[in-house]
Amino acid sequence: MCPDDTHRSPGDSMARRKKVYEGKAKILYEGPEPGTLVQYFKDDATAFNAQKKDVVDGKGVLNNRLSEFFMTGLNAIGVPTHFIRRLNMREQLIRQVEIIPLEVVVRNVAAGSLSTRLGIEEGTPLPRPIIEFCYKDDKLGDPLVSEEHILAFGWASQQDLDDIIALSLRVNDFLSGCMLAVGIKLVDFKIEVGRIWDNDYQRLILADEISPDSCRLWDIETGKKLDKDVFRRDLGSLADAYTEVARRLGVLPANSGPVTRPTLIN
Ligand code: UDP
Repeated sequence: MCPDDTHRSPGDSMARRKKVYEGKAKILYEGPEPGTLVQYFKDDATAFNAQKKDVVDGKGVLNNRLSEFFMTGLNAIGVPTHFIRRLNMREQLIRQVEIIPLEVVVRNVAAGSLSTRLGIEEGTPLPRPIIEFCYKDDKLGDPLVSEEHILAFGWASQQDLDDIIALSLRVNDFLSGCMLAVGIKLVDFKIEVGRIWDNDYQRLILADEISPDSCRLWDIETGKKLDKDVFRRDLGSLADAYTEVARRLGVLPANSGPVTRPTLIN
């Protein structure tokens, strides 16, 4: 086996496992037990619905660690998530869920598509957190939808929506606090929610990932972007930005080298 598995392609480690789904940044494989999956984080970076693409060395390793950090913290405060445990540098064991076909965006500060759509200058604080729903369909470019659409087309029930909103606001409070403690402003983020069944009883849990790929993170002092906008807007090294977030949160040792070195094996 390669001593530094950051360079190992998914096929090498996964030859025995069945691929269940491949997305832009992650691959899901069958898990070791029924009801589980293995989530593999790729180095692929995409933006603008995959019109812009690159490979960012070490991104998958960082996102695996960061998502573990946030999901573990959320589990600890009673926010249910799909995360079970990290398996290695690029993989984590998760609960299998039925994904609700919505991207749930929570915003604290105007940026990105909200600024474009409503003509609100980027950086304007919002009067309260605003939750938006997009229908998860790459072919359609994940269009913004209203609760009316969601209910009429049966993507989620009113009870589901109430639960999703409550969950999203708890995630927002938790992440905002984590970031504030290390001098970072949580501008906005996207989550996905999944349904699980315990016998006849169903409930919703946080799924997918939480990482700088799906958040906007600005340094409080300088305003420097520490998220995927660095890639979207060609603002420098994406790996450096994510490494900075990981170091500040204590996920990486402060003096560690680049993530492609085997410092992250455990
Ligand atoms: N986002 C995401 N995946 C998407 C679309 C958005 O993770 O497919 C995140 C994005 O990183 C940002 C937030 O959701 O943190 C709000 O994104 P926005 O609607 O402003 O879209 P964008 O400007 O990224 O196209």
